Amino acid sequence: MTFQDFKFHPDVAAGISAAGYETPTPIQAQAIPAVMAGRDVMGLAQTGTGKTAAFALPILNRLQPGPRGKVRALVVAPTRELAEQINEAFAAYGKQTRLTSATIYGGVGINPQIAALRRGVDIVVACPGRLLDHIGQGNIDLSKLEVLVLDEADQMFDMGFLPDIRRIIKAVPKTRQTLLFSATMPEAIRGLASETLTNPVTVQVDRVAPAVTVSHALYPVDQHLKTGLLLKLLQHTDTESVLVFTRTKHRARRLDEQLQKAGYRAASLQGNLSQNRRQAALDGFRDGSFQILVATDIAARGIDVSQISHVINYDIPDTAEAYIHRIGRTGRAARTGDAFTLVTGEDTAMVRAIEKVLGKPLERRRLADFDYSVPAPRKDTEFARPPRQPAVRRPRPATSGNAPAAEAAKPSGTPRRFKRNGARTGQAR
Ligand code: AMP
Repeated sequence: MTFQDFKFHPDVAAGISAAGYETPTPIQAQAIPAVMAGRDVMGLAQTGTGKTAAFALPILNRLQPGPRGKVRALVVAPTRELAEQINEAFAAYGKQTRLTSATIYGGVGINPQIAALRRGVDIVVACPGRLLDHIGQGNIDLSKLEVLVLDEADQMFDMGFLPDIRRIIKAVPKTRQTLLFSATMPEAIRGLASETLTNPVTVQVDRVAPAVTVSHALYPVDQHLKTGLLLKLLQHTDTESVLVFTRTKHRARRLDEQLQKAGYRAASLQGNLSQNRRQAALDGFRDGSFQILVATDIAARGIDVSQISHVINYDIPDTAEAYIHRIGRTGRAARTGDAFTLVTGEDTAMVRAIEKVLGKPLERRRLADFDYSVPAPRKDTEFARPPRQPAVRRPRPATSGNAPAAEAAKPSGTPRRFKRNGARTGQAR
């Protein structure tokens, strides 16, 4: 199958060529014909599968011939980063169409958003809280809406946005096309789908199986030796761009400091800091000024850095699905990537759950030149203590429509290159 088979308007086809896409990804091959036929779609796909283009291209195609300046498509997404990425995708694919789009999310001034809505846009990409503010204040006219997209619905549910989503659905016309994308299908999303979709076509790619190009490995280690092992791993590995996950904000910040002390160009993404600093960390990671980004799951939501070579789980995630989400960020769109997970004795049950989802045992590796016998310090530091167990569901963030803001650490003075030994040198099984 090629993109020509979809018979897109030449202006949309031009956007696909400009993006350099040649072959539709599996989710695109399945979803695009259904969306173009005007059907409601339930898309089970995780980030990294090409799902954004799967809805953005047919939406641009649908809106292209019509009038301009009325909101005819609305995409609701859980985080501002994801909203920005979707908006950029619309801008890139739709460059020749002269359709306009705008983002709406909290944590930034509302007035520029009001001004953009007044000028008139065709597509709005929004986070739920701020969108409801605009709806409440009468800033946005949704009466001409033709297509509603709910993206990463399971993440929105996790972040407590489901009541907001229901309010948004009440505020848009009943006659519309609805597309719902979710990486997983918990009961709540099943319920939302049955309330909001009419006779939907379900499309699904590898519900939980990750990109085949990712190679996985576990590194068993005691809690207090994690940082030392991580530093050793980085020395051994030919890494371009590494995303490191920790379970808490505190651990992310501490680990970032330790990596910087060791000479790496690192930054961390964690809560409670300004959108500017968060954006600076993300931009620096994208453009290569930072080689390593340390983040928590919430802070890292929606990050799309196509060239991530390694995802390293400093702490194992809470669920097998979160593991798939994390490692979905490496090996994107058929690039190869490695996913390393540091595991302690307490992680045995979670390792088993992940292996079950992957359908195969994960390789255990040991670094030959790492001293695993160093005893734990007598007085444990807070950092060395095992992380607290996370809550099952997170409460809704205080600010409207956002993931928590995050802090960007400054780069360390001396840039340092990773050693270029093969990733597996010096490692025994
Ligand atoms: P997404 O799942 O929408 O976040 O997309 C993941 C990545 O795949 C993005 O960097 C897209 O630019 C890229 N991508 C999407 N569709 C294609 C395609 N048909 N061919 C190559 N790359 C693609």
